[in-house]
Amino acid sequence: MSKIQENLERVRDQIAQAARASGRSATDIELVAVTKTHSAEMVREAIAAGQLVFGESKVQEARAKIPLLPSNLRWHFIGHLQKNKVRHALPLFALIHSVDSHELAQAIDRIAHDDGLHPRVLLEVNVAGEASKFGFPPDKLHQEMESLLALPRLSIEGLMCIPPLGQDAEASRKYFVALRELRNSFENEFELKLPHLSMGMTNDYSVAIEEGATLIRVGTAIFGERAKKQKSKATDEHGFSQSSES
Ligand SMILES: *Cc1c(COP(=O)(O)O)cnc(C)c1O
Repeated sequence: MSKIQENLERVRDQIAQAARASGRSATDIELVAVTKTHSAEMVREAIAAGQLVFGESKVQEARAKIPLLPSNLRWHFIGHLQKNKVRHALPLFALIHSVDSHELAQAIDRIAHDDGLHPRVLLEVNVAGEASKFGFPPDKLHQEMESLLALPRLSIEGLMCIPPLGQDAEASRKYFVALRELRNSFENEFELKLPHLSMGMTNDYSVAIEEGATLIRVGTAIFGERAKKQKSKATDEHGFSQSSES
């Protein structure tokens, strides 16, 4: 068994365990295997272990990698999307987790109209009010929700968050609860369904599942550590740029 296959089995076991512990069904939780910085070869090992849903955080990297791989995969976009990359991103991704501003939502709506698409998206919430993070502050999202919902081409299916990093899993719990409560309050106030909560990464996905995650985004636990990000324009051994392009 390959290392990646073993890792995937371990993650799937943990998902099942966290689901059981919280009275949920493991089939209600989708594992998005995050392949950023990793080669197409490594993605193929995950495919061999039955994984079909993958996440990328940079459009340029995804445009290079996705065509190398089978067409039956589903790719999710999880990074900060620049407006000038929307046209390339829309046809590649089944779900965009990270709509993080009203301007981006409008750009997606306009381009989707031009190109005859109906993209599925989640709205990214800056749950801890971190200056360094993208995403809507909760109050601002509440104010803008009505006009976001009016964008005709966007299918808004839920919320996403990335809590502060570098803390233990339990430290994330209050942010996951906050995201779920925000979702519940929007469902009541705007009388709609927001079925998806994208929350939980390698260090805290079990806690996220306990708090209602339907999509977890896991990279390191499956593929191992990523090469450290560099500020230079250096490319890694797989030929992907590690500059801060998104
Ligand atoms: C890289 C990334 C992940 C995966 O993180 P790991 O800690 O490696 O599991 C999840 N979500 C987002 C938005 C990411 O950029």
